[in-house]
Amino acid sequence: MRTCHRFGRIKSGYERDISSLMDHATRNEGTGLAKSSRSSADGARRSMAFALNRHLAHCRECG
Ligand SMILES: [Zn+2]
Repeated sequence: MRTCHRFGRIKSGYERDISSLMDHATRNEGTGLAKSSRSSADGARRSMAFALNRHLAHCRECG
């Protein structure tokens, strides 16, 4: 599938958030902070999927 640069920007923005949350979780392993960072990362993954699907539904360049 071909995707436009906007798709890439949405994706890389979320991926940066997710990886910093996961780094945070790893650094705080075994604490409540790790747990909440992981659940925020899960939420960000869902938001990313939603945002990308919404983009694909409306974008004329992707597909
Ligand atoms: Zn697009």
